[in-house]
Order: sequence, then structure tokens, then C-alpha cells
Amino acid sequence: MPKMGPRAAKKLKRKVAARIPGRPVKPDPKLSGGRRRVPSEIGEIVRKRAETEAAIADARRSNERLREAIDILPQGIVFLDAEGRYILWNKKYAEIYRRSSDQFEHGARLQDTLRVGVARGDYPEAIGREEAWIAERLKKLYQPGERHEQKLADGRVVLIEERLTSDGGVVGLRVDITELKQREASFRLLFDGNPVPMILCSLDGERILSVNDAAAEHYGFSRAEFEKLTIRSLQAFDTELPWIGGRDGDEQAARTWKHVRADGTLIDLAIYSRELMHGDQPAVLLALMDMTERKRAEARLAFMAQHDGLTALPNRNLLRQQMDDMLLHTRRSAEKVAVLVLGLDNFKAVNDTLGHGVGDKLLRGVAKRLRSTLREEDALARLNSDEFAIVQSGVSRPEDAVLLAKRLLEAIGEPYLLDAHSIVIGASIGIAMSPGDGDESEKLLKSADMALSRAKSEFRGTFSFFEAEMDARAQTRRKIEMDLRDAIQNDGLRPFYQPLVDLSSGRITGFEALVRWPHPERGMISPGEFIPVAEETGLINPLGGLMLRRACNDAAHWPDDVRVAVNLSPLQFRTGNLLSQVTEALKHSGLPARRLELEITETLLLEKSSQVLATLHALRALGVRISMDDFGTGYSSLSYLRSFPFDKIKIDQSFVRDLGSNRDAQAIVRSIISLGKGLGVTITAEGVETEAELSCLRAEGCHEGQGFLFSRARPNADIVSLLQAQRGGTDDEAALVA
Ligand code: C2E
Ligand code: CA
Ligand code: CA
Repeated sequence: MPKMGPRAAKKLKRKVAARIPGRPVKPDPKLSGGRRRVPSEIGEIVRKRAETEAAIADARRSNERLREAIDILPQGIVFLDAEGRYILWNKKYAEIYRRSSDQFEHGARLQDTLRVGVARGDYPEAIGREEAWIAERLKKLYQPGERHEQKLADGRVVLIEERLTSDGGVVGLRVDITELKQREASFRLLFDGNPVPMILCSLDGERILSVNDAAAEHYGFSRAEFEKLTIRSLQAFDTELPWIGGRDGDEQAARTWKHVRADGTLIDLAIYSRELMHGDQPAVLLALMDMTERKRAEARLAFMAQHDGLTALPNRNLLRQQMDDMLLHTRRSAEKVAVLVLGLDNFKAVNDTLGHGVGDKLLRGVAKRLRSTLREEDALARLNSDEFAIVQSGVSRPEDAVLLAKRLLEAIGEPYLLDAHSIVIGASIGIAMSPGDGDESEKLLKSADMALSRAKSEFRGTFSFFEAEMDARAQTRRKIEMDLRDAIQNDGLRPFYQPLVDLSSGRITGFEALVRWPHPERGMISPGEFIPVAEETGLINPLGGLMLRRACNDAAHWPDDVRVAVNLSPLQFRTGNLLSQVTEALKHSGLPARRLELEITETLLLEKSSQVLATLHALRALGVRISMDDFGTGYSSLSYLRSFPFDKIKIDQSFVRDLGSNRDAQAIVRSIISLGKGLGVTITAEGVETEAELSCLRAEGCHEGQGFLFSRARPNADIVSLLQAQRGGTDDEAALVA
């Protein structure tokens, strides 16, 4: 391609520019003839013309490329000539001014465009001083390296940068900095107006670049004074070196230290730091957080986690820690640690009769007396509602613990005057000692607790030492519970039946169902061993339900005049579904209700609960018979007879046992029998073992008997043959005393 001189090129450029954008090239009249030429001249002209057209096409292509290139720039760009006329601009430029590219006209003058914009109100800064503003704007245009911000009517801000070009024109850049400005503004707002003292400083902490009002007040310096300070010079306010130019903001923030504000208040301070750009320099923003309140709340929480809210005594957690420390200490000496668990006797009664308010005051009173009876080095804690634990250190013999236990019981036993009530409350104490009864806190507490259970159940109002045998007993119970659960689930229990015999005719009137547990390892386990465990653990409910169903199902196959008696535990009345359990068992088996007897003990009536009585009446309304079992062993057997019309009374075996030897027993049995007759109630004697007992009962006119003399309890399979033997006319008693 031939080279062009600068002038030719300029001329050409202007020509090309005049036709751009997009105008078709008109044929040049100078080039397309007008006069006739000689052939050589013509050849020359044709060649030149081809050359020129190629050059034009070439220039157009590079101009288009330039356009495309500037169109993809993220900034607005504009070229103006020396007279301020538009030569070239990109899409972004038009976009910034909210126009399309062809709304700018090539060759149009900037000042005219500005004037149109000003008239439309595009430039809020020009309002009211339009001409002056335009003049200022144009003056800036030809200043080298000009840079300023321009506000637009819609709130946007444009950064304008302009440079002179070599031909006296101007190339201008436009950047939309609205977001940046907003961010800056919100940073200033967050910073200046923030109630948290904040300092912006250089990365090395040498220069303080800016502070907010809160920081000025915090340190008591003016903003101007601050600018002469370094972070290090603020150190005087702190008990420790605060910020030392580190960048680990989070680690800094996790620490607090004591700090004195300018007004003299002492606070817990933490500093949050963040690295950020300040203009174009990296800087650090420090926020001074007053953690005093939070520290206080944390301390409160920590206290609450380790103390009892009512008495402010340590709780079990803290006690265990204190105990572990004491135990560690004694490990190296001959000293022992004694743990005394103290339980108040009948505290529930105080709560129930005088209300929780008085109950709470009583507990605080007890806590106070306990504390004042102890030495400084003994630990005291509240374990649960009415139990306290005392850990006595420096003990050498059990007698030391006994002395303390006596003093504690004495202190507690004095009357309390609360809300005009004089209250006396007793206590029991269980004692365990290291290392014999356990060498770690939890074990010792458990041992003392077991000793307390024993003190409560056997002695009351006194103390009891832990014995290894208690532990063994507790463990057997746990094992029984586990195995029993398993047996109930896997059909491991079955009813055996013991006959009830009519003493005048010698005929069997019915059978009492007694649960049997053939244990795979231990053989037959007696109900006396597992019924109490079942009652403690609630397993009595499924067990009782199971016995009801099995007994009804079996009895449904017996002759129609033979009844079945099932034992009920008081707990079965509490669950509330006993009535439906009974109805279900009857319905499912088809056994008429009159053939079912339910045996209850006096303990059920102890509470005089109306719900219990209602259930009893409802059962009776079904046609089921209700018997009172173990009569005579309770506290006020006679009064219970008044509360419910029983169908049968079973004289407890202890009276029957003594019949031969004890005259009182005989008198008791006699009066129960006459009482029963008076009430029209069947009387059954339990535990009849000898002929002598039998004849004595017969002589007194007792209706029924039950006991080994007739038969032990037997599996259902034996019952049919037993009944057949009786009905087959064999000697009744001989058949029964098998
Ligand atoms: P209980 O209701 O008083 O049952 C009578 C107990 O006396 C039975 O003991 C029976 O085997 C025993 N016995 C019967 N005749 C004689 C005798 O002539 N001499 C002696 N020494 N004992 C005799 P067992 O079967 O060991 O049951 C003990 C207790 O367990 C029962 O006393 C009852 O309170 C409870 N029990 C048994 N089965 C159940 C049950 O299914 N549910 C409930 N809740 N308790 C049951
Ligand atoms: Ca019974
Ligand atoms: Ca009984």
C-alpha cells in the first residue's frame, strides 16, 4: 500500500470523517471526468482513482475498528476538535448522558449540546446561573489534566477527566461514580455518626487518619488534636498494650482489657479491627467496643450455671468440681473426705399446706443454717428440691462425720418462724466416705444418696452410713428391672393359679392368679422380689395388663361357676386406663364380668382419692367383684371398709399363721369374720397351711380358705385336672392337698 504524506492523510481523514458514519461514498466529480483526456492521462487517472478508493476503504475500516474498540470500553469517551466540536464518542458516553449514540451529531458544538442539556435541567448545578456555568465548563475543557465531578439531575455523579490532544482537540473520559459516592457517603455516615468510638489509622498505627465524634469524646481529645497522635500515644488509657498494628482483627476482638475513659469510668474494652482502603492507601479501622455489660452478663450466666437460683448455693456441677479438688488434695495425705447428703423429711407437706412461698423461705432458712454450721473449708450445695450435700474435708475417722451430722440435724431441727408460722422440719442424712465408699465425686455422692434412702426409710430424723451391701442391692434391682422389661416384652411371664376353697362344701369357688417369672439364669423368681421393682419403674402397668388378659382368657375355659381373682397395684389406678383394660380383657376373652374378682390392698385407699373411688365404682358397675386383700395389715383397715362396699375381705396370712399359738390372733380373726357377716361380705382366710388352722377357721364360720393346705399356685394346664378330680367325686381335700 502506497504511503501518504501527513497533509494528504489529513485531507483524506477529513473527507472520510465527513462521510462517517455510514454514508455512502458519492462519486467525486473531479475524478469522474468533465473533459476528455488522452489515453495515457486516462490510465494515470484510473490508477490514481483506484488508489484513492482503496485508501478510503482502508481508512473507513480502521475507523470502524477504532469505533468498535472504544465502544467496548467501560468508560465513556469523547473526542472534540480544537473548536469544541464532536468528532467521535462511544456508546458508554451516550449512555452516561442517557442518550443513544446517534443523538449526538458529528460536528455539533459541545457548548450547544450543553446549552440544550442546561435548558432541559440536566445539570442541577447550573440551575439559576446557566450561562456562567456553561462558561466555567468550557473554560475547564482546555485546561490540561482537568478532572472534576459533575452532578446529573437524576442524582448520578460523573467523574470527568479531560486531556488535550496533539492537534489542539480534547479527549475526555466519563466514569459513572454514583455507587462509589454512595458508598463513601454511607461510610462517612456510619463512621461519623456511630456511637461506637472509631479510629481510622495507617497500617503501622503511626498516623491517625480520622476519628469519629464518639472516639473524640471517649479519649477527650478534639479531632484536630487526634491528628497529631499515634495509636501508641493512646496507650496511657489502657492497663495493657492495646492494638499494636496486628492485622488479626478477630483475635484482637476476642480479648478484653481494663480501660479508663477520659471521663474516668473504668470499662472492659475490646477492639475490633478491619483493614480497608482509605482513598488509595491501605488503612485500619478500629472500633472500640465497651464490653462491660456483656462481661457482667457473662459472669452472671456463669454463676447461674453453677449455682442454685433459690439459695445461691453451689449446684451439683460446682460441688463436683470442688469435691474433685478436695479429693485430689487428700490423695497425698491420710485425710479423708466425708460426703453428707441431707434430705428434709416431709418437705412436700410444707409446700402443699403452706404454699411454695413459705416452702422457698424454709429452704433459704435451711441453707443459711447449714452454712453457718459448717467451717469455711467445707463445701455445701443444693442438689435438688429438698436435698443438700455437704463435703467435709480433713476427716480422719467416721466419728468426725457423725459429729458434724449431729450438729447439722440439731441446727435444722430448731423451729423456723416464717410468715407467722412456726415450722419444725426434720432431716435425714446419708454419709459416704472416701476412699472406701468411692474415690471420685460422682460415686461418693451416689453412695451417700443410697445411705440417705436407707436413713429415710428405716430411721428418719437421723443419719446412716453407706454400706457396700446397699450398693449390691441397688445393682441387683437394676438388673431385675432390665430383665423384667425384657420378660414383659417377650412373653416371659405367666400366671399360676391358686384355688380358693369354700370351707363348708370343700368345693373350689375360684382361683387367684399369681404372676410367675421363670428366669433363664435364676430359675423361678418370686413376685415379692420383682413386683416392688415393677412398681418403682412403672413396669407394673404393662405387667398388670398382661395378667388381666391372660387370667380372663384362661378362666373363660373353666366351668361357669369358677371365678378368677387378679391382683391390682395402686399404680394401675393412676394411669387412668384401668377401666378400659378390664373391659377389653372381658370382651376379648368372653368371660362374664361376674366371674372376675379384682384384689386391691389398703394402700390404694390411703390417699382417699375421688378418682380411685370413681374407678372402683365403675368397675363394680360392670359386674366385677372387688376384694380387699391383706386385710388387717394397714393403718386403719376398718375405716377403709366404710369408704367402699367390698364384695370380699381376705384376712392376711399373718393372722392365720398365729391362730394356733396366739389368742389375740384368734380374737382378731373372729371379729373380722363377724364383721364380714354383719356387712354381708365374703371372708376368705389366706395362707391356710395346717389342718389345725383349717378347723379353727371352720369353727369360727369363715367362708373361704386359700393356702398350701389346699394347693400351691399351679399352671393353667393343671387347673382342668384339678377341677375334674374334684367334680369326679374324689375326696376334695385329698385332691387339693396335692
Ligand atoms: P398376695 O396377693 O397376698 O398373694 C398371696 C401370696 O401368698 C402368694 O405369694 C401365694 O403364693 C402365697 N401363699 C398362698 N398360700 C400360702 C400359704 O399357705 N403359705 C404361705 N406362706 N404363702 C402362701 P406370691 O405368689 O409369692 O405373691 C406374692 C405377692 O405378690 C402377692 O401377695 C401379691 O401381692 C403380689 N402379686 C402376685 N402376682 C401379682 C400380680 O399379678 N399383680 C400384682 N399387682 N401383684 C401380684
Ligand atoms: Ca392377692
Ligand atoms: Ca394377700
